[in-house]
Amino acid sequence: MSERPPAPDPLPHPVVDNHCHLDVARGDEAALPVEEALAAAAAVGVPRIVQIGCDLRGARWAVEAAATHPELVAGVALHPNEAPRLADLDAALTEIEQLAAAHDRVRAVGETGLDTYRTGAEGRAVQEESFRRHVDLAKRLDKTLVIHDRDAHDDVLRVIDDEGAPERWVMHCFSGDAAFARACLDRGAHLSFAGTVTFKNADQVREAAAIAPIDRVLVETDAPYLTPMPHRGRSNASYLVPLTVRTLADLRKDDLETLCAAIDENTEGAFGGPW
Ligand SMILES: [Zn+2]
Ligand SMILES: [Zn+2]
Repeated sequence: MSERPPAPDPLPHPVVDNHCHLDVARGDEAALPVEEALAAAAAVGVPRIVQIGCDLRGARWAVEAAATHPELVAGVALHPNEAPRLADLDAALTEIEQLAAAHDRVRAVGETGLDTYRTGAEGRAVQEESFRRHVDLAKRLDKTLVIHDRDAHDDVLRVIDDEGAPERWVMHCFSGDAAFARACLDRGAHLSFAGTVTFKNADQVREAAAIAPIDRVLVETDAPYLTPMPHRGRSNASYLVPLTVRTLADLRKDDLETLCAAIDENTEGAFGGPW
């Protein structure tokens, strides 16, 4: 299984992979070298990527990568499953704030949010506290808030309503139904769809993707996770984004090139302008 899935047909217009972990290996398969990942993605119409750092090491890596590669901008945060494990949340948040404040190429605070799937009851209070602090940080620094929501839809909305939504925010790997999509859209969110829209058991997510206005739709890999069909179970990478975009265009009945152009423009809007 070490062989990578083949490259899909190129897209007719470039799109951005707005959520990727270039630094993360999956299982025993090493991450692609960054230059190789960027070249493979660009060759199929994915010339830019938002690199997301999920812990202090990952956040430092993302800042460095975005400073080195013009194709990349960065998001930095303590992942909702990372925050409860930290010995000193305050100190870690201070470093995240320093990284986000000091570097123009950090466009996002994220991924933050709530995850009741991997974090048990004992970690939830810290997880929510961390989420609230990240919402505040995104607003104070005028960065885009990138939200991870796993089995926590109502609680994510509760915190957003309580704290007040930032100017720009993204529901990454959108996993809710059409009603939850509307609730997020009403509050100003962009909805980012991952390879999960290609999965057999994802009818509700497809219904959400079908009702989202074309100016609020984004696409992502969350690579190396969530590999789209027909390669589910293998390592994901940004060059597989076309499989997800084509599924979105089909289910939404959008012209492929029109959808790609919209996603490209939406991503720039969602992440504070071109790069
Ligand atoms: Zn996530
Ligand atoms: Zn992620």
